[in-house]
Amino acid sequence: MIKEKLQKDFNVKQYYDQSNLVYISAFISYIFLIPFFYFTAGIEMAMIYLVCMIITFCSIFLNKQQKYGLASLIFILAMNFSVVISLFAFGRNAGFYYYFFNLSVLIVFSNWKGIHKLLFILLEVILFFTIHLISLKTAPLLTMSFSFLLFLHTLNILFNIAGVANSAYYYVRITKDYQKDILTMASTDYLTGLPNRSTFTKFYDNLSDDCEIGIGIYMMDLDHFKKINDTYGHLCGDYVLKEFARLLQNEAFETGMFARYGGEEFVMIYKSSNSKEVKDRAEKLRLTIENHPFQFENHSFNLTVSIGAIHRKPSLDACLRNGLQFADKLLYESKDNGRNIVTFKEV
Ligand code: GH3
Ligand code: MG
Ligand code: MG
Repeated sequence: MIKEKLQKDFNVKQYYDQSNLVYISAFISYIFLIPFFYFTAGIEMAMIYLVCMIITFCSIFLNKQQKYGLASLIFILAMNFSVVISLFAFGRNAGFYYYFFNLSVLIVFSNWKGIHKLLFILLEVILFFTIHLISLKTAPLLTMSFSFLLFLHTLNILFNIAGVANSAYYYVRITKDYQKDILTMASTDYLTGLPNRSTFTKFYDNLSDDCEIGIGIYMMDLDHFKKINDTYGHLCGDYVLKEFARLLQNEAFETGMFARYGGEEFVMIYKSSNSKEVKDRAEKLRLTIENHPFQFENHSFNLTVSIGAIHRKPSLDACLRNGLQFADKLLYESKDNGRNIVTFKEV
């Protein structure tokens, strides 16, 4: 499910958003270019650009219908058509050649099959060389002033640089966004939003290099949680886990981490030099849960948590060695002694 959603979002970002920007920019450019060509080059050029503008409008429409491939196809064909005609009309000095490079970028970024992309890029190469050769031997159809050609050339350079830079920037940006999303997903527990076990383990390993203060560790396990699932259903169980995480998140320390260790087991770790504080804090967490009225749909109930808590004194020796195992052992003592208990030890 998540994979499909991610893929769909990526398709929208990759094929819809960026092409939409390209088509709309082209459409707006045509609005200005059509009257410009009408007054400078004549009605024929204006009409050709009008046809391209209508095709671009169709691309915008098809893109909205998620027909990304067809939208790119007609847009790229129309662009090729206008570039070829413009090259014949104004000659090489007007700078329409650059569009062949830009069109190759659009082809690569389309959602076509690899072989189709290759064929179309080949088409761009053939068009480029053919027109280049023809234009070497024949004069342009329209005779324009040097300053007019210079103006067109400058405009075409600017359009092309902006087009390529924008596409490159866009793809770098969406790749970065996705990298961030994937990192978040890989490091977070999807249900509670807490750090997951692998994030916790990395954090824990790094903390062991830094033990000059002392460390408090709590291993926590909800009591008789299975009964909640069996009595009220798994959705209710999920709610309890989320609610538990929310309640204790407020108690987590800046210097530490509160994570879902697995199932209905949670772990909290933080720096502390004071063993009494570690013990009292664990008791406070236990009471927070004991006194919280859980409410799911029309069910009201109370829950308890068993905690294994340790305080490791500052030590030059790797102070976290076996810390989790110690805390886990104490958690089982809490369970064996009747649950809803904190078993604490200074180790
Ligand atoms: P104890 O007091 O000994 O800890 O008993 P318990 O019932 O809490 O422990 P047990 O290990 O028997 O059951 C844990 C249950 O937690 C079993 C499993 O189906 C449930 N569980 C684990 N992860 C999830 C989850 O993400 N959502 C829900 N709803 N249930 C979960
Ligand atoms: Mg349990
Ligand atoms: Mg358990």
